[in-house]
Amino acid sequence: MEINQKQKIVILGSTGSIGQQTLNVCRRLNFEIAGLSCFNNIEILLKQIEEFMPEKVAVANLDSAIELTERLKKMPHIKTEILYGDQGNVELAKSACDKIVIAIIGFAALKPLLAAIEAKHTIALANKETLVSTGKIVLEQAKKHDAKIYPVDSETSAIWQCLAGKTEASEEIKQVWLTASGGPFRTYSKEQFYSITVEDALKHPVWSMGQKITIDSASMMNKGLELIEISRLFNLTGNQIKVIIHPQSIIHSMVEYLDGSVLAQMSLPNMELPIQYALTYDKRLPMPDKPKLDLAELGQLTFEAPDMERFPALRLAYEAQAEDGAMPAVLNAANEIAVRAFIKRIISFLDISAMVESTMQKFRHHSLYHSSTLNDILAADQWAREYTEQIIAQFR
Ligand code: NDP
Ligand code: MG
Repeated sequence: MEINQKQKIVILGSTGSIGQQTLNVCRRLNFEIAGLSCFNNIEILLKQIEEFMPEKVAVANLDSAIELTERLKKMPHIKTEILYGDQGNVELAKSACDKIVIAIIGFAALKPLLAAIEAKHTIALANKETLVSTGKIVLEQAKKHDAKIYPVDSETSAIWQCLAGKTEASEEIKQVWLTASGGPFRTYSKEQFYSITVEDALKHPVWSMGQKITIDSASMMNKGLELIEISRLFNLTGNQIKVIIHPQSIIHSMVEYLDGSVLAQMSLPNMELPIQYALTYDKRLPMPDKPKLDLAELGQLTFEAPDMERFPALRLAYEAQAEDGAMPAVLNAANEIAVRAFIKRIISFLDISAMVESTMQKFRHHSLYHSSTLNDILAADQWAREYTEQIIAQFR
């Protein structure tokens, strides 16, 4: 499809940080919105329905669907169909469109992602938890059904751009450099980590994102999830992925080739760029409303090695990547539960990584440890959630 033709887009998780930025891109490019979904953020969804008049929307449960139906009765010109529950997102994921953006947070994105793959859609994938936990299966399914998956995360997009759009790394690649801003606690001493509050962890120095990913950035688990995501998408070993701290977040990642040449993708930090690139690939379109990089004004770019002692989440992610099987799913599930408990102020910031580590340690003796089928990974995910909840219960 030519990009100047009007594309039809479905966005799952349209009320979130990525979802709303995707709508900014669609507004800029005058794309049509075929479907939208959220969990229960009816107020924002209503405004989006009014503006974009999608054919269908999906919400989490019947109560939200009833409320939305009532509110829409006051706007009789809107004919949007309302779906709900898991099945609602799955149905939306199958509906006709040119691209579907999956911007739901967490493992809840898996069923709609698999449905979009079966429908042979071209998928702009922001959600990283599904690739981490079930990446092999997701990518095998995508191959089988000839569905394309384009990365949206800024680092994965950077690598994809440096590879000129190839999603499987070529034999010419020596390694990739995965950049990290270092988050709000980059310069904290070990002692300072004991007194980190939820408010401290939610203040990201560069990016404005949803709560869960902001906490993951502060612990560097976000980089850990990304390194697993990248190993899956580009078929790289853990040894081929080097994390490097780059506080300015101008270089979004780099690819180093066998001859020593390093290609970097640079821009001012702005998620709309990778979102737009995934929606218009392999064309580039202007973003006239966004400020551009001025290197002279910036003066310098700096780099430092990551500290796995202060940021154990990174070490845990390398371990999970190397162990593979269901371990990445266990890491991700334990982290989701621990982050939620931290946000609810039940556990401390340092407890997040400690709980992920304990859950991983316990899982090494579990019968599902070596498994790799979808059902076994889902069972391991469930086991990890329950086990982490049990440890957290001791804190209540
Ligand atoms: P947000 O928390 O801001 O938004 C999440 C979206 O998913 C919301 O629309 C939310 O609806 C919806 N949602 C939440 N739970 C469910 C559920 N169980 N079923 C259906 N929908 C649900 O997250 P982000 O936009 O920050 O992140 C989305 C994904 O993109 C994550 O996987 C994240 O790791 C990834 N990502 C995000 C980046 C960013 O800059 N934000 C960068 C790179 C990747 P509601 O509003 O109703 O709760
Ligand atoms: Mg990222």
